[in-house]
Amino acid sequence: MFQQEDYDVIVVGAGHAGCEAAAAAANMGSKVLLVTMNMNTIAQMSCNPAMGGVAKGQIVREVDALGGQSGIITDKTMIQFRMLNRSKGPAMWSPRAQSDRMRFAEEWRLTLEQTLNVDFWQEAVTGIVVENDTVVGVKTALGIEFRGKSVVLTNGTFLNGLIHIGEKQFGGGRAAEKGSTGITEQLKELGFEAGRMKTGTPPRVDGRSLDYSKMEEQAGDAEPGKFSYLDTPSLVKQRPCYITYTNAEVHEILKEGFEKSPMFQGRIKGLGPRYCPSVEDKINRFADKDRHQIFVEPEGWSTVEVYVNGFSSSLPEDVQYRALRKIAGFENAKMFRPGYAIEYDFFPPTQLHLTLETKLIQNLYFAGQINGTTGYEEAACQGLMAGINAHNKVHGKQPFILKRSEAYIGVLIDDLVNKGTDEPYRMFTSRAEHRLLLRQDNADLRLTPLGHALGLASDERMDRVREKEQQTQEIAKLLKNFAIEPQEINGWLTEIGSAVISEKTRAVNLLRRPNVDLPALARVLPGLTLALAPYRPEALEQAEILVKYESYLEKEHQQAARVQELENFVIQGRLDYRAMPALSHEAREKLLKIQPETLGQASRISGVSPADVSVLMVYLGR
Ligand SMILES: Cc1cc2nc3c(=O)[nH]c(=O)nc-3n(C[C@H](O)[C@H](O)[C@H](O)COP(=O)(O)OP(=O)(O)OC[C@H]3O[C@@H](n4cnc5c(N)ncnc54)[C@H](O)[C@@H]3O)c2cc1C
Repeated sequence: MFQQEDYDVIVVGAGHAGCEAAAAAANMGSKVLLVTMNMNTIAQMSCNPAMGGVAKGQIVREVDALGGQSGIITDKTMIQFRMLNRSKGPAMWSPRAQSDRMRFAEEWRLTLEQTLNVDFWQEAVTGIVVENDTVVGVKTALGIEFRGKSVVLTNGTFLNGLIHIGEKQFGGGRAAEKGSTGITEQLKELGFEAGRMKTGTPPRVDGRSLDYSKMEEQAGDAEPGKFSYLDTPSLVKQRPCYITYTNAEVHEILKEGFEKSPMFQGRIKGLGPRYCPSVEDKINRFADKDRHQIFVEPEGWSTVEVYVNGFSSSLPEDVQYRALRKIAGFENAKMFRPGYAIEYDFFPPTQLHLTLETKLIQNLYFAGQINGTTGYEEAACQGLMAGINAHNKVHGKQPFILKRSEAYIGVLIDDLVNKGTDEPYRMFTSRAEHRLLLRQDNADLRLTPLGHALGLASDERMDRVREKEQQTQEIAKLLKNFAIEPQEINGWLTEIGSAVISEKTRAVNLLRRPNVDLPALARVLPGLTLALAPYRPEALEQAEILVKYESYLEKEHQQAARVQELENFVIQGRLDYRAMPALSHEAREKLLKIQPETLGQASRISGVSPADVSVLMVYLGR
């Protein structure tokens, strides 16, 4: 037997999902083997070198709060940080970082190499080994069989990957990397359903060939934030991004390439991400728009390569090149790599339990892009959850499932498993019905206690959360008691166009006004500044949000508790929905297929109506 160990968890693929899965399972004490095709591309960012963004930034913070690594690695390797949506309410604030692509991958590899319990093997996995409907290992191209108690598949865009550039098409999992064959075919034989999706990426150019004076500079935040709740380094120096636009000339050249477009000529069959369309798709669909925004993003500290965000294309490379050079600032652009589209296999995620274990084969988990999602953040959080659950299962522990009211991660997995997806699924704040509760500022309060109980989040993290909780309570109390005299504040209130006060008023009442925030209030009131001096900035921010939005948050908590009543109603075992004639035909079919684990889950399956839920309640004895 070759280099044989009895692994607890074998992770296939070292993308964002695979890295988090391996790190989580190993940090919880599992013996892990990470098998990946190419150890030089561990944690490769296939598309843009950026982490976070709207709703995605919240996910990275949740991963961090649970004890995952993506936030720490992003903090260590970012070149720019911005908090998006600052002008909106705190539920919409979303951290986003521009990363150094090479440093990001390097830091992940370093992290994994320093994680006890992770072994590596570089090779393509061609299939899984199954005995009695349970996975017991994987097979590789060299014919090696590795045995493991559980397997997490995270093959990303590699399964039967097919790359398109104009009329050219060739097999590959990503530019310059081989695709993966065998796994889909075997899983189909085992009874899995597979589908096809598509995604694309823009060309990369030489930054030295661009004229930035013709573009708008987009600087990072003056006081850059971070993703991790731990003491990761703060950014002292940042690299700017730039904004420019396509124009009529660019559009005309791109249109010349339409007859060779794999998308418009029907060679691409898979559905692509609706919210990340190619530039040809944009000019075709929005023909009345005379320009589209292009974000010019550096790929790192020490490279001249630049990512042309907004110009994703699978048109012939010469068309991409000619069109690019008509963009302001790109007149002399030299292209390093053309944009391309890729089609790949995915497995409709309704075939999974909420733990990401497959319903067909025990101890087999799927995570990341193969579940029909798109994005590093979506992949990373699934990897984390699959790694945790694989570890728990092989150690006889309880499944770890996050509720929709607890985390975006809970929303994502619940959506995937109950509703499935036929186009690449990305997270939006609008997908979360309790988004007021799921903020980037409180992911640690929501999730670190859970991560700590799992044995994943460290004692240090937990101590910080306790301290933040305690300080937040103290500050909230202080703000409710701190009295302000009219003469202390009315001058400033008049200045900012807010109504003056006629009598002594508590700080909390002023904070509830839309144009008053705590730092500004403290600047005007030296007494308040003094009282708040002992507290940490994150506790001050938390307390401000809690008192400012107290009544909204209370309502949201009540709403979440009501929904939870259905969630607590566990459906034991497999029910024979065919024997429930009062259910609608569609509900019977969907319930049979998805086999929900709670009444709440059943209620969210599309096609299961409130009337069907009532039937189930009666049947289950309620
Ligand atoms: C061209 C392109 C464009 C994209 N555009 C966007 C975009 O615009 N927006 C967006 O949000 N996301 C985009 N993505 C998606 C983003 O890259 C993925 O969502 C993310 O990387 C998925 O992470 P993952 O861990 O699931 O898989 P990946 O990052 O794809 O990692 C898969 C890993 O598995 C390994 N592997 C695969 N098969 C095997 C095997 N059989 N044996 C061993 N190892 C194997 C690979 O080597 C790799 O390490 C794009 C991806 C590509 C390729």
